[in-house]
Amino acid sequence: MSASAPLLPAVSSFLSSRKQLLIDGEWVDAKDGQTFTTLNPATEDVLVEVAQASAVDADRAVVAARTAFEDGSPWSRMTPRERSHLLWRIGDMIEERAEEFAQLESLDNGKSLASARGDVGVAAELFRYFAGWATKMEGTSIPMSVPGKQFHAYTRREAIGVVAGIVPWNFPLTMAAFKIVPAITAGNTVVLKPAEQTPLTALRLGELLLEAGVPAGVVNVLPGFGDAGAALVDHAGVDKVAFTGSTEVGKKIAAGASRNLKKVSLELGGKAPNIVFADADLDAAIAGAALAGYFNEGQCCVNGSRLYVQRSVFDEVVEGVAAAARAIKVGDAFDPATTMGPLVSAEQHEKVMGYVRGAVSDGATIAAGSPDAAADRGYFFAPTLITGVTEQMAVQTDEIFGPVVTAIPFDTEDEVVAAANNTVYGLAAGVWSKDLGTAHRVGGRLRAGTVWLNTWHADDVTLPRGGYKQSGWGRELGSFGLDDYTELKTVIAELR
Ligand code: NAD
Repeated sequence: MSASAPLLPAVSSFLSSRKQLLIDGEWVDAKDGQTFTTLNPATEDVLVEVAQASAVDADRAVVAARTAFEDGSPWSRMTPRERSHLLWRIGDMIEERAEEFAQLESLDNGKSLASARGDVGVAAELFRYFAGWATKMEGTSIPMSVPGKQFHAYTRREAIGVVAGIVPWNFPLTMAAFKIVPAITAGNTVVLKPAEQTPLTALRLGELLLEAGVPAGVVNVLPGFGDAGAALVDHAGVDKVAFTGSTEVGKKIAAGASRNLKKVSLELGGKAPNIVFADADLDAAIAGAALAGYFNEGQCCVNGSRLYVQRSVFDEVVEGVAAAARAIKVGDAFDPATTMGPLVSAEQHEKVMGYVRGAVSDGATIAAGSPDAAADRGYFFAPTLITGVTEQMAVQTDEIFGPVVTAIPFDTEDEVVAAANNTVYGLAAGVWSKDLGTAHRVGGRLRAGTVWLNTWHADDVTLPRGGYKQSGWGRELGSFGLDDYTELKTVIAELR
């Protein structure tokens, strides 16, 4: 670790004791005493031992969340204004501890401190944005036309109940916040299952929520593996499952939740096409393509992994993106010069390397990167650009979830739109062109939940996000983000 970024005492202190499960406002061990360790992916050193939730603990947490939700509980009696103030206070508290959260996130996930600081800012802002919505969950008054009678009919937005939030490791704190914040804004209670690779910031957030005055049982945090997540999905006491993760696990969640017809929202994988037309601002498009492919070590669901470039500028763009990839400083997250940390785990490193080696053996060409240059310690992987790829290669069809971009030339708009849409995914897409007509027209033809025109990764908590096709169900964040956390009740009164 660089001397320029010393570990904060609060982080050392947090890491000095075994972490437990948060159930019903108490920190407790797993019932069977099981634990697991979480590693620093830059050094492969153990950071801390963490209690590992099983199905029994999932049941304890769901019971606590149900009790906290019940009519007459302190949480159910809290007014929307009180919830709003509480959410705002938590946003402030996160910001006050921003560096602590950022260091913890960098250590656990590997991402650069600068990147982790950005994530913490998003989490804080999310609490504040939804603080505003707590008092604005309005219904409507609807005219009825029944001959000879008079009615007053209106709708109410009400909480669903117990929400199981299951999240991945690529943005651990923000993903935890994405599930907790809209759920509690609407008055639900939550059992959160962080990813086994990165449980720490969710646990620290749990401490903060208690300190802020969130009543016991309203938010429970269960570090553990897929079996704990599956136990939540199967549990009859859970009313809704909010999942972010792979499409493969998303299908299991949908199947499991369907047994009790639970509400389900799914934010799943992607394989985003990034289309550069010859009339684009090429400097911006090259920088944007590098950002699209390599931000967060490429471990983004909206990673711009399929780069399509119009043939007349193909060589220029490929050379530019390759140069940008080589200029990225891969290293320890705590080194201020670092712009890319390690991948999250040995398993992820192996998977990403396998795809790149597979592409080479299929006849593709590496324009930047080197799949064989493994570091002595840490799961580092150089940002990689691949050309000579066909649409059938695994590197082109599968979500890799690493810093790997493939570049393919195209000639016509129709041809590139067809290629871009030729995927089971539909999470994000991008178009680069100075011609507004081209940009908006092609953006309209792309089957994706988010389309970026002449930019990439531009985002805000005010904007809905979600996937077409096998990239998901529902929309998260923005005003639409509350819909998936509420039931809509219709009330009809006869006026006699
Ligand atoms: P993953 O699907 O392997 O795991 C996600 C979470 O599900 C983890 O907490 C894991 O323990 C849990 N889980 C695993 N098996 C389970 C089961 N059978 N039942 C219930 N829970 C189970 O995903 P990952 O590798 O952690 O994350 C990467 C994936 O997440 C990528 O596919 C990426 O695209 C996706 N992702 C999507 C978005 C989005 O907004 N659409 C955002 C971030 C990540």
